[in-house]
Amino acid sequence: MCPASLSLAQRLLGFDTINPPGNEAACMQFFADWLTDNGFEVTLSAFGTDRANLIATMSGAADGMPLAFTGHLDTVPLGNQAWQHDPFGSEIDGDRLYGRGSSDMKAAVAAFALACVEQQAAIRAGRGVILLITGGEETGCDGAQALIEDGNLPEIGALIVGEPTANYPVIGHKGALWLRCETHGKTAHGAMPELGINAIYLAADALGKIRHFSPGAPHPLMKHPTLNVGRIQGGLNINSVPDRAAFDVDIRSAPNLQHATIRQQLSDFLEESVQMTTLVDLPAVLSSAENQWVQSIYRLCQTRFDQPLEARVVPYFTDASLLLPALGNPPCIILGPGEPSMAHQTDEYCLLSKLSEAEQLYAEIIGEWMADGKRSPGMATF
Ligand SMILES: [Zn+2]
Repeated sequence: MCPASLSLAQRLLGFDTINPPGNEAACMQFFADWLTDNGFEVTLSAFGTDRANLIATMSGAADGMPLAFTGHLDTVPLGNQAWQHDPFGSEIDGDRLYGRGSSDMKAAVAAFALACVEQQAAIRAGRGVILLITGGEETGCDGAQALIEDGNLPEIGALIVGEPTANYPVIGHKGALWLRCETHGKTAHGAMPELGINAIYLAADALGKIRHFSPGAPHPLMKHPTLNVGRIQGGLNINSVPDRAAFDVDIRSAPNLQHATIRQQLSDFLEESVQMTTLVDLPAVLSSAENQWVQSIYRLCQTRFDQPLEARVVPYFTDASLLLPALGNPPCIILGPGEPSMAHQTDEYCLLSKLSEAEQLYAEIIGEWMADGKRSPGMATF
């Protein structure tokens, strides 16, 4: 069956929103026009040259908090390998819709937008929906940060993040703490190294130590926090003693760990030869599996799976890291049609069957939210 949201997904995939640099504004403007034509009130907000977010509202007549969906329209770069399918061509081959951002996560954005349009009557009679659409997610949730700084975030009752889970409901993800560690020495001629202090040697000493650093105790669901050194830079030429070196550390945390504590402990561990700057600071996300609304989503999703659904988390971060605290920490589910294994891959695709299924799931979730609002006006029972 052809998903109702297919043509919208294809239009979104046609825009090059590779981040960096992002350039989401044209795609965001197209989507804003589409949403306006389909009954939403839309506010576009710029956060840099050709960068934009939007908030779309479909109001309801009933009292109570609206249901919110969030998704990002930027994508990661294409990578070094050649693509067999045009990354902006929205090609279909069998059950696959190809394109950069198909799984992560333009198809999901199309699916929840379409589900809202299809459920428009229920939404109007119920508590309404909000779409929070961001740019700049892939480089550390820059768009979500800008959206929060704009100060116009609406109140919401629950949040669905359409990141790729192959329609498996997920209750959380690890946090990310990215640190730049710098060492400083003294430059000298490479033939007289005894006159200098080699910053690369200082960095190498620190790197030798950091392999033995533990960011903290394991979490029952998210297991061990991790640490990876992903980049190193130092020196200008072969025949000088380098006076600066830097390496970037990617720590993935869990809700039982505070980032400020991890940073302080790492700083103490490496001692004063290393100066530290925080590049990205995104807390972990975890909703209670016992939450009534979360349970209702498990019930709806369970009909699509043979095995009993279990409380599950994903390793990647999402805009929910920043949006949830700014929204007063409503319950949150990560649920999207994309294939988690396809995110950031060459020849990225989303399965059309999953896209259809996501449209139906989102519509059912919206239907329940609105029906619950009518049953108990003014009360957020979930
Ligand atoms: Zn994503």
